[in-house]
Amino acid sequence: MFRRKFLKKISYAFGFAIFNPIKWLQAQSETGLTVERDGQIVGHVPYVLIQNQYYIRLNDFADVNGFGQFTNSNRKKTVLIVDQAKFKFTHDNAFVIVNDRVLQILFTPRWRGGALWVALEELMALINEFTKFNLQFNESQKKLIFTDRQINITSLQIEHKANGTLISLTATQPFEAKDLKTKLVNGWLYLEIVGGRGDEKALSKKINDQSIREIRAAQLEQLLSIGFKLKNKPLSYEALFDEANGQILLTLHEKEVAQANQTEKAEDEQNHSIDEELERQKSEWMIDTIVIDPGHGGKDPGALGYYKLKEKDIVLSVGLLLGKYLKKKLPDVKILYTRKSDVFIPLWKRTKFANENHGKLFISLHCNASKSRRARGFETYFLSAEKDDKAREVVLLENESIKFESTDDRQKYEGINFVLATLAQNAFIKYSQYLASVVQKSLRKFLQPLGMKDRGVKQGPFWVMVGATMPNILVEMGYISNKNEAKMLRRKSTQSKIALALAEGIDKFKTDFESAM
Ligand SMILES: [Zn+2]
Repeated sequence: MFRRKFLKKISYAFGFAIFNPIKWLQAQSETGLTVERDGQIVGHVPYVLIQNQYYIRLNDFADVNGFGQFTNSNRKKTVLIVDQAKFKFTHDNAFVIVNDRVLQILFTPRWRGGALWVALEELMALINEFTKFNLQFNESQKKLIFTDRQINITSLQIEHKANGTLISLTATQPFEAKDLKTKLVNGWLYLEIVGGRGDEKALSKKINDQSIREIRAAQLEQLLSIGFKLKNKPLSYEALFDEANGQILLTLHEKEVAQANQTEKAEDEQNHSIDEELERQKSEWMIDTIVIDPGHGGKDPGALGYYKLKEKDIVLSVGLLLGKYLKKKLPDVKILYTRKSDVFIPLWKRTKFANENHGKLFISLHCNASKSRRARGFETYFLSAEKDDKAREVVLLENESIKFESTDDRQKYEGINFVLATLAQNAFIKYSQYLASVVQKSLRKFLQPLGMKDRGVKQGPFWVMVGATMPNILVEMGYISNKNEAKMLRRKSTQSKIALALAEGIDKFKTDFESAM
């Protein structure tokens, strides 16, 4: 949160805070800021104004408040210790080390008169983010107001999505899953945060939007309870802590994207016979469009292997063969490709394409590589926020494609989108898992006789699968970093076998899936 906000600021305000010595001298005559702590005035801290920014002398700030500090004059550094947090500031340096993290600030510290001066705005943000203290500045009274109320839940936001509502609470400390409890009582959904402390008044409000009427927060001794008066009963709800963004997320899953329309319709037309309704639902679920996604392409070669093999070439070849076999097996099914040639496509566009074309299955094709030349075998993944230990390397490798994308494209993957999209997929995950298992079984039948190793079905958080509103899998057809498998994978005959195996697996899934409808 903090970091993103400041990184954003840097883009438009860079150069704004360049030190101006004339202003500095003028500012020296100003008096100090009053420091108030829990209603008591504890002292004053000298400040100067530089280009409208309040800069305060860091060692005085520490002394007045009784915080630890250590200054290294030679290196023009000051370490400030507040609560459990250690902040290391350096003259003219936009990086602040907070414990063992590196953060970027916009207004860089200044070394003058044997001491380090730090922009108040930056210092407040750091203290409010990383310590139990709350620091506010009253500009008209030139007063710094310190409270150690230990507020750790600072704000609440609500976003409405296609299939539900996302409530995010900004937290100044991490929370464990066991400390986040939810319960639904008489139309109120309660989120209880054990160890949470918040401002009841600031969090409570009447909103009356499309899904929530009112929010009521109550601070109890052990926990912060936040009640949401809901307009509709959600299909499911879940609370979790999103470490990447330091937020508690409460998701209300209100309707399946694919079923949203038919649910509403079904309620309107209750006179329709159940048979008719089932028939209509069945046709909506029929697998009439399959999207084949050969991974990587263009400037993104994917994994590199023996015999100068590139992942992007092998998966395109297999993808085209798969399309051919599927057409033969399932002549009524529309086969679409995210790419049919050697072009680069951002990951998010691949599932967007599948969604827009009403794809009913999404098959992403990849080859694996490892530093260990002995690693070998084929495996099939379905999307999950969880990852198997061994899947880590593969997830990192495949998600690396993002580095070839433009900044704009990359921003689409930031933080929240992933968690939410994964949750939104809950409805498809069980089908994706089944699809993965039948495809892996079919690959085993075709590839084990060639001596290739069955690595099984796995799960992991792959960007390319996020956002697909249909069952989807990612197939790693073998290691091109393994000499034997590279030799096999470059052969057209092996590529055909893989494509045929995939086609058989998909056909089996289609039959099972449709007969279950
Ligand atoms: Zn790949």
